[in-house]
Amino acid sequence: MKFRDRVARAMYGRYGNDQLNKGMLVISILCLLLSSFARIRIFYGLGLVVLLLAYVRMFSKNIPKRYQENQKYLSIQNSVVGWLKLKQLHAKQRKMYRFYACPTCGQKVRVPKGKGKIEITCPQCRQAFVKRS
Ligand SMILES: [Zn+2]
Repeated sequence: MKFRDRVARAMYGRYGNDQLNKGMLVISILCLLLSSFARIRIFYGLGLVVLLLAYVRMFSKNIPKRYQENQKYLSIQNSVVGWLKLKQLHAKQRKMYRFYACPTCGQKVRVPKGKGKIEITCPQCRQAFVKRS
């Protein structure tokens, strides 16, 4: 029997790999690298535990549960990536714009820089406030 067929037979009815597992593998590799370069022993144990958990998930037969975990992971990953992209965009625009939070509702407002004192109307709650741009 070919190796691929054996793997396919062993994985039959099992969950397999997903984005959460890939993330866990990356974390475990980072932990193991950190433990060997920085000689921090706790990262070695942590890396092994995360690696073990990734394999347990991969061979799990409780597919709906693993699927749910992955969905949760993806939603957290998406919000983190979205937040980072927004921060990156703001950093890029900081040369030309100023960012203020509405004093009433907290909505972030972007105004062009260098226009002196201006009245800003919040696009969400219509509250007006004065700031230097
Ligand atoms: Zn507002």
